[in-house]
Amino acid sequence: MIDDATVSKIFDAANILDVVSDFVALKKRGNNYFGCCPFHNEKTGSFSVSPAKNIYYCFGCHKGGNSVNFIMEHENLPYYEALKYLANKFHIEVTETERTPEEQERHDDRESMMVLNEFAKNYFIRNMTETEEGRAIGYKYFKERGFNEETIKTYELGYSLSDRKAFTEFALKSGYQLKYLISTSNGQTNSGTGLTIKHDDGYTFDRFSGRVMFPIHSITGKVIGFGGRVLDARTKGVNVKYMNSPQSEIYDKSRSLYGIYQAKASIVKNDKCFLVEGYTDVLSMHQSGIENVVASNGTALTIEQIRLIKKFTNNITVLYDGDDAGIHAALRGIDMILAEGLNVKVLLLPDGEDPDSFARNHSSSELEAFIGANETDFVLFKTRLLLGDAGNDPIKKAELINDIVASIAAISDDIKRLLYVKECAKLMDIEEAVLKDATEKKINKITYQQLEAAQKERERERRQKEMAEQTPTQQPQTPEQRPILNEETALNNRVCELESELLKYLIQFGDKVLFEVKKENEPTEIVTVSRYILNELKINNIAFKIDACRKMLDIYISTAEHNATPDDSLFTQCHDADVSSFAVKLLVAKNEVSKEFWDKRNRYVPPEQGHLKEMVDITLNHYKFEIAQQEIKNIGKIIAQLQTEPDNDEKIAEQLTKLGVFQRYIIKLGDSLGIVMPRK
Ligand SMILES: [Zn+2]
Repeated sequence: MIDDATVSKIFDAANILDVVSDFVALKKRGNNYFGCCPFHNEKTGSFSVSPAKNIYYCFGCHKGGNSVNFIMEHENLPYYEALKYLANKFHIEVTETERTPEEQERHDDRESMMVLNEFAKNYFIRNMTETEEGRAIGYKYFKERGFNEETIKTYELGYSLSDRKAFTEFALKSGYQLKYLISTSNGQTNSGTGLTIKHDDGYTFDRFSGRVMFPIHSITGKVIGFGGRVLDARTKGVNVKYMNSPQSEIYDKSRSLYGIYQAKASIVKNDKCFLVEGYTDVLSMHQSGIENVVASNGTALTIEQIRLIKKFTNNITVLYDGDDAGIHAALRGIDMILAEGLNVKVLLLPDGEDPDSFARNHSSSELEAFIGANETDFVLFKTRLLLGDAGNDPIKKAELINDIVASIAAISDDIKRLLYVKECAKLMDIEEAVLKDATEKKINKITYQQLEAAQKERERERRQKEMAEQTPTQQPQTPEQRPILNEETALNNRVCELESELLKYLIQFGDKVLFEVKKENEPTEIVTVSRYILNELKINNIAFKIDACRKMLDIYISTAEHNATPDDSLFTQCHDADVSSFAVKLLVAKNEVSKEFWDKRNRYVPPEQGHLKEMVDITLNHYKFEIAQQEIKNIGKIIAQLQTEPDNDEKIAEQLTKLGVFQRYIIKLGDSLGIVMPRK
């Protein structure tokens, strides 16, 4: 669907560091970069990126691959879409050949909505600078709020004309379809951007007419939705000052943060993120030099939003208005941040100030000084606040203790938790032991629930893996057949392990000399690892059974045929996504995996040159052993099948002879490997 030359161009351009940095905060260590894995929940950075090899690999969950694999996995895109994503990111023009109708449709919807949003954004920007109304109302509003040109440009602010049909008509005239302009629900998700509202009688009008426009960007800078603020002149009789795009396939309020695209580099740099409530809070703080700031779009904070921040930092400071009545409700959301393992601080602004006004009325150095002096640890902040509320009321105080206990129990770091117990006990004037006891009880309850959840998750994963490992040719399993299936799966795992090990010898040591054969009157024959293994497979008539391994072996053989030594990148940058992700697991972790492999057999030998022949032979023999076992099982099945039909004596005898050959072979192999086989 994309021609090979373009695919190669995309692979060449897609620098892994650029690709991953859009989603993960990375820190340099030696030649590689490390960060917290986006694919499994962790607090230590097990996720590594190697710019030299152009690959990523997680030492925790063992996911790995090249840029294409990363985008497929992270954005949950099929191979083709991942290529398109990268082509777009690295400005490579894609000449497309045909797509299937379903692909076309799925792709079209999301893409069309993004394109339309981009079109709308540019239209709103032009309104503000090129129309009289836009300059007199929209631009004036931002100027009066103190926003400069740079801020307006950075956040791509705009204005929607008060003519209620202006945008819709312009969009339709420009060739955009009504179905993407309006928002329609299919019961589960909404499709269409909702920039236009359609009444039941068919009348259509602009959702945002007469509002200043705040485009909401995705983490990668695409416009996924809009916020529109009605202007002061019209606020009379209007209940809702702000209006947002409706939920859609591309915009989910609870999964996005306003300003994340503009803030992410600064969040990484400062290893900290400020969380505020509104659009203008973000703009004012950014303008006064604090660029690592995002807003929760006016919704209560969600787990998804916290995880979005966690991709870039573990430190959050939440800013509250001094007179915010909703502060108690907001406090509850923070336990969630603690439970995600993030460090939370709170900054309470002076009475009557919000982040917007405060940032506007103070210089950036004043702002920084204020933050430095007033940022308070969240748990202590909450304790003091609630303590003030409770006064001397014993019932309220008991409630308070429970509330604080919940927050402390959410902290996963043991030492940090103990320090909080000490400090809070002092603040609340209760025995430290009492608070500690209550916290531990609460933790046990949490831990139990978490354990249960984790167990369910593991069970689900196991089942999924099992399903994936069933080859498509297998019939649905009856209960009696189940054990056979599991045994087969285990056998396949061992085969996969051994085929991988052989590939590692080929790729790592292929050109090393294993031994020499001296013949009279002939030149000495040199046998390399490569030649030896390939020959052994050939004379035993064995083809690799595992898909990815077989493909890798084919690549290896075709390169070796041209007398070239295959390099790791031949596999890790392979255009077959299954092969590349498999190859990364195999090659990056080669020493680690190798050690595990040998440990299992209590025969770990450091891979030194001298032992090479011995090690290759052991692996080869183990492999032949597994293959022979599979063969014996197959023959057993064939015989069982033949026995259910009449007049098969001859065929059965034939199979029995074959079985005898394999049984003798496997006993011999077993002997050499120290495996005792039952003898008849
Ligand atoms: Zn991981």
